[in-house]
Amino acid sequence: MESVTEPAAHLLAPSLAIVVPCYNEEAVIADTAAELLAALSELEASGRIAAASKIYFVDDGSRDATWPLLEKLARENNGIVAVALSRNRGHQNALYAGLSQTREDMVVSIDADLQDGPENIAAMVDACCAGFEVVFGVREERDSDTWFKRMTAEGYYRVMRSLGVDLVFNHADFRLMSRRAVDTLLEYPETNLFLRGMVRELGFRSTSVFYSRRPRLAGESKYPLRRMLSLAWKGVTAFSIAPLRAITLLGLVSGGLALGLIVWVLFVKLFSNSVVPGWASIMVPVLFIGSVQLLCLGVIGEYLGKIYEEVKRRPRFHLREVVGAEPVVGPEAG
Ligand code: UDP
Ligand code: MG
Repeated sequence: MESVTEPAAHLLAPSLAIVVPCYNEEAVIADTAAELLAALSELEASGRIAAASKIYFVDDGSRDATWPLLEKLARENNGIVAVALSRNRGHQNALYAGLSQTREDMVVSIDADLQDGPENIAAMVDACCAGFEVVFGVREERDSDTWFKRMTAEGYYRVMRSLGVDLVFNHADFRLMSRRAVDTLLEYPETNLFLRGMVRELGFRSTSVFYSRRPRLAGESKYPLRRMLSLAWKGVTAFSIAPLRAITLLGLVSGGLALGLIVWVLFVKLFSNSVVPGWASIMVPVLFIGSVQLLCLGVIGEYLGKIYEEVKRRPRFHLREVVGAEPVVGPEAG
């Protein structure tokens, strides 16, 4: 029997980084770290990833005991890096900060509450090794969501699609990216981050891994309605100018209505003995046009506000502390 020398898997295997943004997650940190470490060693044992793989926890300015917990974990485990931002910058910025610290061959982003099970990472790594540079985690169902969240999410994907924005349906921020994809993403200079849209922009070969989402481990959702709406609007304004075009359309429609009204007024005046009676016929169009104009100004103002934020070119985050890894050389902010 011919014997084939097995390749030394651990020498060839790529390294993996798992980036976990955390905001007031003291209730889940310990369990999350334990589960992710176990997932890493399983992946290492199966020869999929190198032993040099690491978990990057990013403390997004938490007000609870998240940072002391992370710091302790990073000091006790070689496989854990704890990164602290100077203050709360929001999920997308925290995730971006984490990505900017990684040096590994593949990077997985995952939420601290482990609603997106780490058991799916193996399939993502396999897809990456098969040549896909971006692997989206896609939820098969939304049973763990409230009726309201399901409906609004569905509506949002529809609206985005009709605006021509290319989003992966039911994919949030659980994904794997190759080093090249991460480095390319980090070149995007925008301040208003909507990462799930930007990753689609990259255009590298991508595929999806399907999974069911678990309920939150503990603690509560950091995405109340206000934040959800703000992220949704960021997605629209960062990827589409359709609302601005809609203003032009609205102008055309109301112009058409006005023209119809003029024809009608002239018709009544010329071909009957009466004229169009006064108050209501003046006030209704005046109020209508007035409110449409304010609405349009509001939409233009929203884009103007985004431009204002973008031209200031302020750093997206500042690092306060990094424990467990050599800090990245160069400017501390991204
Ligand atoms: N998060 C963050 N900064 C924030 C808000 C949230 O880093 O300002 C993190 C949070 O700790 C979690 C992830 O973003 O790891 C997603 O938040 P959450 O699970 O509460 O959102 P949901 O699953 O309810 O949409
Ligand atoms: Mg969650």
